[in-house]
Amino acid sequence: MSQTAELINKYQRVFPEIIDIAAAKEVFWQNPQLKSVDESLKTVDFTQHDVQDAADRLNRFASYIASAFPETVTSEGIIESELVDAPATLTKLENYYDEVLSGRLMLKLDCNLPIAGSIKARGGIYEVLKYAETLAITNGLITISDDYKSFDSEEFRAFFSDYSIVVGSTGNLGLSIGIMGASLGLKATVHMSADARQWKKDLLRSKGVNVIEYESDYSHAVEQGRLESSQDPNSHFVDDESSRDLFLGYAVAAKRMQKQLIEQGITVDAEHPLYIYLPCGVGGGPGGICFGMKLVFGDHVHCYFVEPTHAPAIIIGMGTGLNEDISAQDLGLDGLTSADGLAVSRPSGLVCKAMSGLLDGVFTIDDNELYKLLALVYDAEGIRIEPSSAAGVAGIARVMAAQGGLSNNATHIIWVTGGSMVPTEEWQEYYNVGNGNTNNSY
Ligand SMILES: *Cc1c(COP(=O)(O)O)cnc(C)c1O
Repeated sequence: MSQTAELINKYQRVFPEIIDIAAAKEVFWQNPQLKSVDESLKTVDFTQHDVQDAADRLNRFASYIASAFPETVTSEGIIESELVDAPATLTKLENYYDEVLSGRLMLKLDCNLPIAGSIKARGGIYEVLKYAETLAITNGLITISDDYKSFDSEEFRAFFSDYSIVVGSTGNLGLSIGIMGASLGLKATVHMSADARQWKKDLLRSKGVNVIEYESDYSHAVEQGRLESSQDPNSHFVDDESSRDLFLGYAVAAKRMQKQLIEQGITVDAEHPLYIYLPCGVGGGPGGICFGMKLVFGDHVHCYFVEPTHAPAIIIGMGTGLNEDISAQDLGLDGLTSADGLAVSRPSGLVCKAMSGLLDGVFTIDDNELYKLLALVYDAEGIRIEPSSAAGVAGIARVMAAQGGLSNNATHIIWVTGGSMVPTEEWQEYYNVGNGNTNNSY
């Protein structure tokens, strides 16, 4: 028997979806290990205290961020996105799926996050700042009660020029680490997988970031980055596959969103459930956000991840229980997707473990759908998103199909994870593909 057939044979009883996953068909998987949040948190290696610590650190850096990135002055150096009502998108989705979709639909616009234009502006930037803070404190440059505006100075940049930050990325993580690292004066190196778009590499090089390109996939780029960094004691490797800091940087989003929901008069309780749809690559971004949301809203929030049919990662790690010991390639899949931000074949073990009793489910989506949903969101809202971030748009209809209905009182939030930095011409091509005017050549 082939390795793939063996895997399917071994796991199809506990995880029947594995058959369709291996055939690159769309599936919907409800997590059979889901427990109450209280019960789950007993076994999760992260706490409320950890998230608060991360939130406090981001607050300390706000004066630096406002000083170094003028586009954040209005938000006083806090990198946050809007939460907007999306009735026009709901109507278009009803037409698209030819179904009545009840509840309230909202979009969380991480596509417009300042500095990096994607969800990576949360975790990625947080990890760079934490590294910089640790160096600055250890070397007596600053204490936590000082004004961190001094990080935006020649003195600090000269100090940081002896240190480097390294990451492996399909694109967006590289952007956030590279831009923030270069701004602090750190030497920044980004190991880019073959999926990475040219404009992301060009942008980073224009900021003085060292971009190393590979013909192979994300796992290889991460491997090379880890290796390079391990040979230099003055180098920090941002490990997308197992970083606690990335996870916590993402988790900070939840408390802030609670405030946004309150401001908009939205109740979340047993009668008014909240559903969140999160595009998923290696799992850190959606995992951190799901964890934060569960801390804030307990059992009243339901989180679903979305992965490309050709690059499923968390769904196979969690579904089989093998965590990081299974990859899309083990199931005979090619790992290729136009959703460059989700082009990950092996999940983060740290995230699989943390999500074990917390995550409600995962579904997969075909690449062609991504372009159509990208066009739909533009037609409804005038917002430009990238293919990866269109994955969550299918969430409300997919959950309804799986559960045979939806509560009228539910609020559904599509986490729109990236897009504002995509060059107009490139975005126009995505849109044309979505409207059937061009073939998908990505
Ligand atoms: C990275 C990324 C994701 C997923 O985050 P992971 O931490 O890789 O799971 C989703 N959308 C976009 C646009 C991304 O860049």
